[in-house]
Amino acid sequence: MIDPVSEIKGKLDIVDVVGGYVQLKKMGRNYKGLCPFHSEKSPSFVVSTEKQICHCFGCNKGGDIFTFVQEIEGATFTEALKTLADRAGVKLDDKKMSGVRVTKDERDEFFKAHLLAADFYKSQLWDTEEGGKVLQYLYRRGLKDEMIKAWKLGFAPDAYDALYPMLLKEGVGKDCLLKSGLASTKKIGGGDIFDKFRLRLMFPIMNSRGQVCGFGGRALKSDQQPKYLNSPENVIYDKSSILYGFFKAKDAIKKQDKVILVEGYFDVLIPHQFGFDNVVATCGTALTEKQVKLVKRLTENVYSCFDGDEAGFEASKRAYDVLAGEGVVLKTINLNGGSKDPADRIMNGGVEGFASDVEGAKDFLLHYVDRLLKTCDYKTASGLTKLIGMALPLYAKMSPVLQEYYLKDLSLKIGVGVEALKNEISILKLNSRHPARRNKGEAKDEDRIKFDSEEVLLSLLMSSPDLLEEIGDDLSEEDFTHERKSIYKKLLDNYNSGRLSNDYTEFFTEFGDDIAKRFLILAVYIADKYQGFGELDLKLEVKYLAEKVRVRGRRSVLDGLKKEIGEAELKGDKVKLLDLLDRYQNLLLK
Ligand SMILES: [Zn+2]
Repeated sequence: MIDPVSEIKGKLDIVDVVGGYVQLKKMGRNYKGLCPFHSEKSPSFVVSTEKQICHCFGCNKGGDIFTFVQEIEGATFTEALKTLADRAGVKLDDKKMSGVRVTKDERDEFFKAHLLAADFYKSQLWDTEEGGKVLQYLYRRGLKDEMIKAWKLGFAPDAYDALYPMLLKEGVGKDCLLKSGLASTKKIGGGDIFDKFRLRLMFPIMNSRGQVCGFGGRALKSDQQPKYLNSPENVIYDKSSILYGFFKAKDAIKKQDKVILVEGYFDVLIPHQFGFDNVVATCGTALTEKQVKLVKRLTENVYSCFDGDEAGFEASKRAYDVLAGEGVVLKTINLNGGSKDPADRIMNGGVEGFASDVEGAKDFLLHYVDRLLKTCDYKTASGLTKLIGMALPLYAKMSPVLQEYYLKDLSLKIGVGVEALKNEISILKLNSRHPARRNKGEAKDEDRIKFDSEEVLLSLLMSSPDLLEEIGDDLSEEDFTHERKSIYKKLLDNYNSGRLSNDYTEFFTEFGDDIAKRFLILAVYIADKYQGFGELDLKLEVKYLAEKVRVRGRRSVLDGLKKEIGEAELKGDKVKLLDLLDRYQNLLLK
């Protein structure tokens, strides 16, 4: 029976799987796109249909469809297997799974604990008297039963031992309970534990695959601190990469090509209930680069609708900054009718009111400049300096075209020429060129794989064995180093005996997994590097590489001989010395 991994691989094309996350363009035999794992401006992420692998030549991430999904979804192997099986229409029954190597993952225990906890909180909300009061509160905030159920809202009762004994009984370890923040301990290093979420309205937070990975717990009494208690970060919960509501909103975001960022849980729930299903929340943290990446895969039209107060404005400004760094223009929704947040706006101004506010969204930058114009007296020198000092940093990260566009607008408003403003920006950029601030998230040079001439040559010969004719006797296996001697020899033997297999796995079995993997990546690399090379160009390239390998190989042999000659001289071993000198000269003459 065919194993599920091979079965799934046979049914899915890596270009389609990766294409769901990355915009790919066909380039020669490969597809290319911007790497989803690091920030870059020119694409180094290559997908090979032929080899069914992907690889980033900037940050070195990639692999087959399974490793790709694991990496991009932050999933375990088992989770990736399930996701891809669904996609391929492959049923995974116990019999099939028995053949799959399933590594026990710490994360499975955390997901189990969160799932059980969410179910427990949900039943407390619906089936208890205390929960009934919380339900009334939710109705007053405007939520309907279906929403409350669909988003799995719950209630943590006012007790120290309501949840954790059940989880322990279900096999969840104490360590997991403490790390996930579901329980707390007074004595560090063991001892008594107790439920951490007590008397709180519970919002389960889901990752992009819809698994509960954390909770936000809202206080239910006015003197209860803190107002919001959130899960701490742990193996399944990375705050900076999760947006509340993303799992439910992602299809709508893609379809509408637009996302609305809000601040709190109710600001997500109320709009969703009324059909604005492209709304997600940052949940108390400033927008992060990882969150922007999550969204940017679906749309580049980002709207913010934060609270109308000063803190909300600052949050928009920070979001603008992170988005500008990723080349995205932020629009900001100004809530009319004196509403403080989107939930409030919909409950009081109706669906139409909110819809028209969204419609009237304005570039955040223009909005920001208008605010500055109101507060700075730019007719005076000091006022103008202040305004420019506050405004221009926001123009610095833009593309030249956008910068020109927005500077023209500013120039008209304050009566300072575009060129003068541009000069100010270049001064600003010089001053901020601090090494720590530069190229955040970009692949470091030492991370980049560097292939040497031997490898590139072998890989070229592997993909087009006919090129061996170009080399002839110029090169011998002795010119190569380490295992490459044997690889070259095997290539040559295969060619001479007419065995022209392009099966990498088979060819590299005897050399081990690491080398096989490296040459697979090399195959993708050369297909990319030499696309568009004609037959003649390739022949010349092979000759050039062979010469490099030969010269270097010879040099290292000569260096070795020199060393031996020195040693023989020291020992006074004349016979050996003569022999070595002979070999040395022969090699030089060759
Ligand atoms: Zn990368």
